[in-house]
Amino acid sequence: TPVVHLDQVGKSYGNVNALRGVSLAVRQGEITCVLGDNGAGKSTLIKIIAGLHEHTDGTLSVNGEQRRFKSPRESLDSGIATVYQDLALAPLMSVWRNFFLGNEITKGFGRLDIRQMTRIAQEELTKMGISIPNLDQPVGMLSGGQRQCIAIARAIYFGAKVLILDEPTAALGVKQSGVVLKYIVKARDAGLGVVFITHNPHHAYLVGNHFVVLKLGRVALDTHRADITLEQ
Ligand code: ADP
Ligand code: ADP
Repeated sequence: TPVVHLDQVGKSYGNVNALRGVSLAVRQGEITCVLGDNGAGKSTLIKIIAGLHEHTDGTLSVNGEQRRFKSPRESLDSGIATVYQDLALAPLMSVWRNFFLGNEITKGFGRLDIRQMTRIAQEELTKMGISIPNLDQPVGMLSGGQRQCIAIARAIYFGAKVLILDEPTAALGVKQSGVVLKYIVKARDAGLGVVFITHNPHHAYLVGNHFVVLKLGRVALDTHRADITLEQ
């Protein structure tokens, strides 16, 4: 069964129908790319899965169980990690604190002291090939690409089942985009179900297994890589 399944999901803001009859299956070990123009409903889709908005129609299931998230906390606690484009991490907090942020209490890390947490964060980031010399510096000092990579590494380390990425490469140049795409693949290879929101078809095609195009709040295309051929 898909780890996240939307069935005929609708969302209206007053009389604006941001999503209508959207069905979508996210599977572990796959990168589902969600493409679409501005206003297509991509952010709304993320917000429903991440617990920022409740859907108005249809059902959302996580691991086969119907859910209706009332807060981001509920979404995170069901194994869904969401990384936003501009707010991938808290900019004023240190790198090590960000690494543990949101996971200190639930995962039993409350007993660790600062030194231990810094060491674990350093080891994990190094293991994943992310080199940050000083984990005491505020995250705001790092590049946008580094922040995305740390957020992805954190989701993998804390055992997220699903990783939602909101336009992770939109503000990045060619080189940093390449690095972030590499980490998206690492998350997939670690067994996560990745939802990669982008309006860059090149980035989607480089890493994606599954492609969903939203148009005016509806699914206009849902296809797997294996189904794409050059025949008309
Ligand atoms: P995308 O992320 O693809 O640009 P959005 O999900 O942001 O699309 O928007 C989908 C539609 O819903 C748009 O018509 C947008 O104007 C509308 N919308 C989004 N958020 C709100 C909101 N909070 N209140 C009213 N309308 C909204
Ligand atoms: P809430 O998350 O409670 O809906 P807002 O209404 O402020 O809070 O909207 C959240 C997000 O939706 C913001 O990013 C905002 O820019 C965007 N948004 C709000 N209204 C609209 C709208 N009419 N069209 C498109 N996006 C909107």
